[in-house]
Amino acid sequence: MFSKYLTLIITAMTIGSTSAHEPTIVKLTPPLVSQETISQEIFCDRPMREGKFNISLDQQNGKTIVHCYGHGGSGWTTLFGSVNKAIQLFLETNPDKSSPIHVIGSGCMGLTTAAELSRLGYTVEKISTRSIYDNPSWRAAGFFALVSVKTSPEEQENLNNIGLDTFLTYQSINTGEHPYISKDAVRYLPVYCSSQTDAGVENLELAGLIPPREYVTIDFGNGTVHPEYVKYLTFFLDTTRLMRELTDEVNRLNIPIEIREINSFDDLPETIIFNCSGLGARDLNHDNAVIPVRGHLLTLNELSGSEHMDYMIYTKVKQDENDEYIYLFPKGISITPDKTSGIHCFGVLGGTFLPNMDHLSSDEQEAINQKEFNKLLERTQKFFQG
Ligand SMILES: Cc1cc2nc3c(=O)[nH]c(=O)nc-3n(C[C@H](O)[C@H](O)[C@H](O)COP(=O)(O)OP(=O)(O)OC[C@H]3O[C@@H](n4cnc5c(N)ncnc54)[C@H](O)[C@@H]3O)c2cc1C
Repeated sequence: MFSKYLTLIITAMTIGSTSAHEPTIVKLTPPLVSQETISQEIFCDRPMREGKFNISLDQQNGKTIVHCYGHGGSGWTTLFGSVNKAIQLFLETNPDKSSPIHVIGSGCMGLTTAAELSRLGYTVEKISTRSIYDNPSWRAAGFFALVSVKTSPEEQENLNNIGLDTFLTYQSINTGEHPYISKDAVRYLPVYCSSQTDAGVENLELAGLIPPREYVTIDFGNGTVHPEYVKYLTFFLDTTRLMRELTDEVNRLNIPIEIREINSFDDLPETIIFNCSGLGARDLNHDNAVIPVRGHLLTLNELSGSEHMDYMIYTKVKQDENDEYIYLFPKGISITPDKTSGIHCFGVLGGTFLPNMDHLSSDEQEAINQKEFNKLLERTQKFFQG
């Protein structure tokens, strides 16, 4: 695997050194952004663990606990690499295939872990979850990029490798070779970022897994032009479809999902537990490094148009002299706890990264949420319409 990356890196550096830096003009049709084109205001907390996410194996009171949580804003980007690593730690204990396993959490980590363990022949007794639909895995925008994930410098290589492993799985999905996820669940699309923005895909470029960046000027055709942008290619992950297909696979494998909050690992009869509880791990595993990082999203309706559904934006901008982010991802169905069958949408706008809002009263949170939605509308209108 690593020698393959090395060859790819050398190839990428060779290609990169010959690419011209003259910007190309890229004409894009922007979404129409206004109060009338917004269908939903959504907020949701990313499960961030400071320092690094926790993929480890623990022995507690005669139980084997495999932790896999704390992936912040990159849980989908690190999904398959993380689950592979967690399962590898478990396999190193030479487990008995007939020993019952309990998975906590029905986000992308819990569902994928349960499906993969079962497909390897292990006995997944059940998945317990606080809620089927009320979690960030459904809400995520769907950008394959290592962003909003806290890592210490010594962990960066490990994180990059988990990202690369996950990217290769999405590639296999994209080519229709994945055993249970259909190729339509991911799309390979251009993403445009200002040259000041850390795009989170630079390691893919370095590894030669995506083409070298192109320097571009965006022309929205309405008088709004953004010079000094960079175009990359990466995956848009249709998280609604992925969650539905992961759930289908768990159902096909006859793994029951029960709605139950687990307050202690000792409450479970099984001696093997996979802890994929996201933010819930703060209490369940007494882990104060886990913090919520709030994201605000606006979903677009049909009045916004549809030609913006073939590209992505992820960029830093200035608003009131502060650094803020704008993103646009072509999400087509939005699922929320009150709309579990989903509403059709024409992309999703973001984004914000506000840590520790749970320390505030609900009135204070409400006021900040409203302020962030207003600011987001204002800056995305300015970005797309001038
Ligand atoms: C607005 C937003 C945008 C995002 N965009 C992206 C993106 O573009 N790309 C990307 O890669 N990532 C993105 N993310 C991050 C990504 O969604 C998360 O990292 C990922 O979903 C985490 O998955 P998980 O399975 O670990 O946790 P979760 O989805 O949080 O699932 C945790 C599960 O554990 C259950 N649980 C918790 N505690 C208990 C308990 N005590 N007992 C029983 N069950 C429990 C919960 O009910 C839930 O089912 C985004 C997140 C947000 C909020």
